[in-house]
Amino acid sequence: MTYLLGLTGGIASGKSTVSRVFKAAGFPVVDADVIARRIVEPGRPALARIVQAFGPQVLREDGKLNRAKLGEIVFSQPRRLEALNQINRPYLRAAINQALAQAKAGGAAIVIGDIPLLYEADYVDAFDGVAVVTVDPKVQLDRLMARDGLTEAEAKERIASQIPLAKKAAMADFVIDNNGRPEATIAQAKALIRQLQHLS
Ligand code: ADP
Repeated sequence: MTYLLGLTGGIASGKSTVSRVFKAAGFPVVDADVIARRIVEPGRPALARIVQAFGPQVLREDGKLNRAKLGEIVFSQPRRLEALNQINRPYLRAAINQALAQAKAGGAAIVIGDIPLLYEADYVDAFDGVAVVTVDPKVQLDRLMARDGLTEAEAKERIASQIPLAKKAAMADFVIDNNGRPEATIAQAKALIRQLQHLS
């Protein structure tokens, strides 16, 4: 039996650190960010729909999606962002579910779905359980500003667009506390692997 684990958190909460522990232990990780880029590659139906909605200005000369341009359009206009999400959502869901099924068919004891917006986009039912990587608000803000070179206002805006981490942690089946040193987080992830191996 395979245990399907959803892995999520908030922006800059430390999800990548935890995801790396699972990969290093040899478990397949389905990465929603990677899949989100794949579904808008040239020739894919989602890209055609985006061009239809936003115009050829969102294409680069080589026919690939101009992410910076699209970002400019949607970032300051919530209605345009919602239109983009509405186009992407079904393609993303189908591709993620397919990747999870394929990984599961490989027979690993644990398969991980690394999905930043797992709760926001409601992927809970795709998994046997969900682990949330959490940090305190001040730590999240500081690490986000440092990692992405954002001002405090920009960082706060990005954090505010997601469900608060404390709320996600309250909904989770497993919580990994990333306030401490990376070693402490890695140890918690390894303990979770041992726990899930008993469940699978
Ligand atoms: P996410 O994948 O959730 O967006 P990251 O794993 O990229 O978050 O972590 C956000 C930033 O904080 C990165 O720059 C990372 O190096 C740093 N970071 C993550 N965990 C820790 C930790 N326990 N101690 C110090 N810095 C950390």
